[in-house]
Amino acid sequence: MTAQRTLVLLKPDAVQRGLRGEILRRIEAKGYDIIALAQRTATAEELAAHYAEHEGKPFYPGLVEYMGSAPLVAIVAEGVNVIPGFRSLAGATNPTEAAPGTIRGDLSCEQDLPVIQNLVHGSDSEESAAREIGIWFPELG
Ligand code: GDP
Ligand code: MG
Repeated sequence: MTAQRTLVLLKPDAVQRGLRGEILRRIEAKGYDIIALAQRTATAEELAAHYAEHEGKPFYPGLVEYMGSAPLVAIVAEGVNVIPGFRSLAGATNPTEAAPGTIRGDLSCEQDLPVIQNLVHGSDSEESAAREIGIWFPELG
């Protein structure tokens, strides 16, 4: 297998809760390398591009509002099979269903909010990773 790169976001709830270090620790402890890392508040354009696949879904307005409400941390991580590997570290989308031992399973719980706040994003395929890295780190494209 050859090394892959994936786009990880530490979402605003991860930053606000002071979990950047804990989540980065898990990524590094697993053996993945951090190639790029930047904290900033996402623009509407970045979020529209990043979440284009979800436009029109009931949770989409809440999703882009939450993701743009406060700073997030964008990361490119590298390693063999890091795309599925980081999704395994993250756990299921719904924190109640995310297994203990995963980032979402250990560190987040379901809330009574329009969007599920679940700490992290990870690319779901090689195509998504290339597209998303191009949005957040055009200099790496
Ligand atoms: P992911 O790849 O596991 O992050 O999940 P998706 O790509 O399907 O969804 C993107 C994000 O939208 C999720 O991480 C959640 O923050 C949110 N989300 C997804 N599905 C739902 C849903 O059914 N209800 C709500 N309220 N939020 C959702
Ligand atoms: Mg997704």
